[in-house]
Amino acid sequence: MQLEGLHHVTAITGDASLNVAFYTQVLGLHLVKKTVNQDDVSAYHLFYGDDTGNPGTELTFFDWPMAGPQHSGAGSISAIALGVHGREALEWWVQRFESFKVPHEGIQARGDNQKAVVAFRDPEGQRLELVDDEGRLKGLPWKGSPVPAAMAIHGLYAVRLIAKSLDPTARLLTETLGFRQSGTYQSEQHSTVYVFEVGTGGPGAEVHLDVRPEVSFGRPGIGGVHHVAFRTPNDEEQLQWRQQISRKISSVTPVIDRFYFHSVYFREPGGVLFEIATDGPGFATDEDPAHLGERLALPPFLEPHRQEIEENLRPIVPFHLAALS
Ligand code: ZN
Repeated sequence: MQLEGLHHVTAITGDASLNVAFYTQVLGLHLVKKTVNQDDVSAYHLFYGDDTGNPGTELTFFDWPMAGPQHSGAGSISAIALGVHGREALEWWVQRFESFKVPHEGIQARGDNQKAVVAFRDPEGQRLELVDDEGRLKGLPWKGSPVPAAMAIHGLYAVRLIAKSLDPTARLLTETLGFRQSGTYQSEQHSTVYVFEVGTGGPGAEVHLDVRPEVSFGRPGIGGVHHVAFRTPNDEEQLQWRQQISRKISSVTPVIDRFYFHSVYFREPGGVLFEIATDGPGFATDEDPAHLGERLALPPFLEPHRQEIEENLRPIVPFHLAALS
C-alpha cells in the first residue's frame, strides 16, 4: 500500500470572480466544478484541473472574503508547484506573465540538479511555481484553454511546507506515510528545504519541507493554502491509512463523503492540515463531462436547499483579463 502522490491542494480566495478569471484565462486551467464548501455552504468551493479534473491536477479554492490576508509562517504551505513540459514552456510562461502583469521571478535554477523553476503570484498574493516536469505529468490540457496545449500546466508538481523543526514532520512522512527523503535545496531565505517523495517519486509526488526555526506560526487566510490532499486508490486502502495514522495522531477524522471523493483529515505535527482522498468517484459523477463546472453543482444532501444556497452566494461575475500587447 502506498500513497500515489498529490491529489489536490485547497487554497483561500476572497474574490471568486477574479479567481475564476485568473485561473482559467491566464493559467488556462479548467474550472471542472463549481460547488459549495460542504461545511460552510455560504462559500463557493471552486475546483480547477485538467480537462476532466483528474486526481493530481486539482487546485481548489474556498471563497472566504471575510478571512483576511494569510500570514506565512510555520505550519503553513508556502508554495504550490505546478508542472509544465520543458524549458521552452517556462520561457513561454515568463512572456505570458509579462503580458498579463503577473509578478514573477523569472527562470531560476534550484538545487543540485539545477531544476528550472518560475515563481509567481496570483492577484491575491498566492505563491505558485511552474517547474519543468520533463514531460512526466500526464494531466490532459483543457480543450477550451486559451493556453496552447504544448505549454499547458499538466498538474501539481509539489507543495512546500514551512516547519519549525525537521524531525516531527519528517518522521510522520517517512515512518507513517511511506515517503523517503530524496534531496535538499536552499530556499530564497537561505534555509534548507528537504525534499521528500512517495510512490514513483518526482513530479506530482513530492513534499518540500522548509525548516525555519526562527519563524513564528502562520495564519491561514486569503492568498494562502488551507490544506493538501494525497491520493489513495480506493476506500479499503483509505481505511487502512486511517488506522495507521491514528496510531501516531489522535485527531484523525472519520471518512467524510465529499461526493467527488472520500476524505480523511489530520494535522501533521508541524501544523499543516493533511488529507487522504480517494481517486474516485470523480467530477463526472453528477455532470456531463463536456459541461463540467458550468452550473452550481450540489451533492444530493444539499440539493433540497439549492434555492436558499444560491441566494446566499455572491454571483461570480464573468470578466475578461486583458493581456497587454
Ligand atoms: Zn481537500
